[in-house]
Amino acid sequence: MFERIVVAVDGSEPAKHALSLACDLAGKYGSEIHLVHSPQLETTAIAVGSGAVEIKPDADKIAEAGRKVIEEAENIAAAEGCKPAQSVVGSHDPATDILDLIETVKADMVVMGRRGLGSVAGLLMGSVSQKVSHRAMCTCMTVK
Ligand code: ATP
Ligand code: MG
Repeated sequence: MFERIVVAVDGSEPAKHALSLACDLAGKYGSEIHLVHSPQLETTAIAVGSGAVEIKPDADKIAEAGRKVIEEAENIAAAEGCKPAQSVVGSHDPATDILDLIETVKADMVVMGRRGLGSVAGLLMGSVSQKVSHRAMCTCMTVK
């Protein structure tokens, strides 16, 4: 039913739940998992584990933080008995990278967390999951 599932990860707990659920579905349906993460300047300090007071991370730091998020996601997937077909580190805004990957692999489902690392008070969904759910042509699942 679901041949190719795109899973968007940002290092947050909701995204980790999304990944676990996607791995479970992949086991049931024999689906491929395609991971995607777009490193963002504002969340790099969290991903590399530095304190709140931080000089602006350079491009290398951002790329390194991105690889860490992907590596952690691959480990979570492995623990669920799932090996992603590919892991993409995006270079644009997250929604654009997620939507591009959905198109490229012709995914039939995208799984995201409902919220991520940001904190836009008063919204039911974060801006990334909102944009993707509005624009994606495939089934979208947002995981609490
Ligand atoms: P906002 O970013 O608008 O402040 P938020 O961080 O609470 O809000 P989103 O950013 O929409 O919420 O995150 C929801 C889900 O979108 C995450 O759980 C993850 O699945 C995906 N996502 C968010 N940011 C990224 C990213 N940089 N790369 C890949 N996926 C992401
Ligand atoms: Mg966010």
